[in-house]
Amino acid sequence: RLVVSQLHKRFGGLIAVKSLDFALHPGEILGLIGPNGSGKSTVMQMIMGVVKPTSGKILLDGTDIAGKPIFEIARAGVGIVFQHSRPLRLQTVLENILLGLLPDRIDRLRPPSGAVDRARAIAAECGLAAVLDRMPATLPFADLRRMELAKAIARDPQVVLIDEPFAGLTRGEVDDFAALITRFRDQGRAVMLVDHNVKSIAALADRVLALYLGEKIAEGGPAAVMRDETVRRVYLGGGIET
Ligand code: ATP
Ligand code: MG
Repeated sequence: RLVVSQLHKRFGGLIAVKSLDFALHPGEILGLIGPNGSGKSTVMQMIMGVVKPTSGKILLDGTDIAGKPIFEIARAGVGIVFQHSRPLRLQTVLENILLGLLPDRIDRLRPPSGAVDRARAIAAECGLAAVLDRMPATLPFADLRRMELAKAIARDPQVVLIDEPFAGLTRGEVDDFAALITRFRDQGRAVMLVDHNVKSIAALADRVLALYLGEKIAEGGPAAVMRDETVRRVYLGGGIET
């Protein structure tokens, strides 16, 4: 369980995230929505360990991970899909997934027995069975994103954070990804999504948290949040796709 408490981020004079409180529970999908500049990515990046909070706590099963480096957070059980894929170009799809499984350099030189089988199983789960031996550069965009999902869940994390899961995908691919993300949730993981496409998020999320200028303006079931008066006022013409 992830509990964020009084999380605060200041960039010089700008308050990007203001005294934010929320929890993310096992077996649920939480959608983080908000117009441009509302602080979505900053929240995500603070949990990932890419941006250091100015103050506040990020408790993972009671242990504060705020400000810890990304590899420690990964080890603690947080899987991450960045907005932009950054595959190793000279390694096959299977080898890239192995890297997600074995972040440690020593392990990589001589993978422990079972690691390759586990990587294959995850690849299959993410729909990559047919392209295991291909190079990332030869993959269609959707398969590259599948590879990022596979890397993120390789170590069986209890929390999965996905930045813009649907960006650049076709309608059909969005449905496939939604089914995969739902499966992650049904396996008991806590999943957090950030996306500009509020419709896709609302269709998928069990709970939605709406941000505006770094502050929480609404939280609850997707339908209720989308009906919320403040949300409607702020998001109408607020540069957000609904
Ligand atoms: P978008 O929908 O455009 O991705 P967002 O909700 O993800 O927006 P953030 O990227 O978190 O918003 O940005 C929140 C605020 O913090 C913005 O005003 C942004 O300009 C500012 N900001 C983000 N990163 C930095 C940084 N490294 N230095 C200074 N200001 C930053
Ligand atoms: Mg962003």
